[in-house]
Amino acid sequence: MLVDSFGRTIDYIRISLTERCNFRCMYCMPNTPMDIGSESDDVPLDSVLNFIKIAIKQGVKKIRITGGEPLLRSQIVPFIAKIYELNPNIDIALTTNAFLLAPLAKDLKQAGLKRINISLDSLKPEKIVLISKRDGLNKILQGIESAVKEGFTIKLNMVPLLGINDDEIVDILEYGINLGVGVRFIEFMENTHAKDSTKGLRANEILHKIKAKYEVDLLEKDFFGPATLFKLPTKDCIFGIIAPHNDDFCKTCNRIRLSSEGKLIPCLYHENAVDIKEHMLRGNEKEILKNLKLCVEKKPEKNDWDNNEVSTRAFYKTGG
Ligand code: SAM
Ligand code: SF4
Repeated sequence: MLVDSFGRTIDYIRISLTERCNFRCMYCMPNTPMDIGSESDDVPLDSVLNFIKIAIKQGVKKIRITGGEPLLRSQIVPFIAKIYELNPNIDIALTTNAFLLAPLAKDLKQAGLKRINISLDSLKPEKIVLISKRDGLNKILQGIESAVKEGFTIKLNMVPLLGINDDEIVDILEYGINLGVGVRFIEFMENTHAKDSTKGLRANEILHKIKAKYEVDLLEKDFFGPATLFKLPTKDCIFGIIAPHNDDFCKTCNRIRLSSEGKLIPCLYHENAVDIKEHMLRGNEKEILKNLKLCVEKKPEKNDWDNNEVSTRAFYKTGG
């Protein structure tokens, strides 16, 4: 079992399969040229699978596959199937922008994928172009509908941005309610890769917009997840707000990350990382295990928001 220096059991790993993406979101990678790049630059999936095998032996129970855009990996379906074969009880999840999801949803379900988080920042085609630099709304919505049809557990992720999509917070919530899927609002996390003018709404501002239309009850913090949960009693619906700027965000953190560059990252908003790329490429299991334990040992008690207001770490590399 992996337990950090503050007694937290680490049984959840988020893995970025690529830093490449078919979108250029203003809060993530707006300045990268619109070139999707080549899969040959990505970490080989066999090396990632070998890492996952070691992590599962250490008690990891949940794996989230993310990126960049993980559906750009052409072998994503057999890769998910191989994780499932390692242990069918692993909770396998995916985070995607859904642009490529519709034709893959059925195969991903059959491969053993259980949950999908889908980024949906607007229901207006021109706003999706403004935020992500891609005319993608139709494909995103088709992806969401296909995932619903396949019976995945789905959460929609929205990053509310001042003057950009903050007028659509209630619309996205209602879209989720109508489809019967959960919605998570994520506070914009300042980072050096985002567009300079980008400003996010804080949790209280997001809530304020929802309370203008609905009665809202506070439930509790999702014990093992980063979201604080709320209920709309009149709609029998639960939604969440992920607020890393808040103090109690880190107390129940159970996760570490593997970046697309082969770095084990103990905390999203902390500069420490352990480089295991060479060990992964060589399949050196002893060193991978040693460094996995080192990463857990290095996990800080809380993130660095208080000390450093802007992260230099790119979300498209760490997987957000
Ligand atoms: N491409 C996939 C997607 O967009 O869903 C997966 C990778 S993306 C980095 C994972 C999540 O991070 C998305 O839900 C995205 O909205 C969120 N994200 C990226 N940059 C962020 C930022 N600066 N602040 C808050 N959330 C961010
Ligand atoms: Fe791509 Fe996801 Fe980053 Fe948007 S948030 S640019 S979809 S990796």
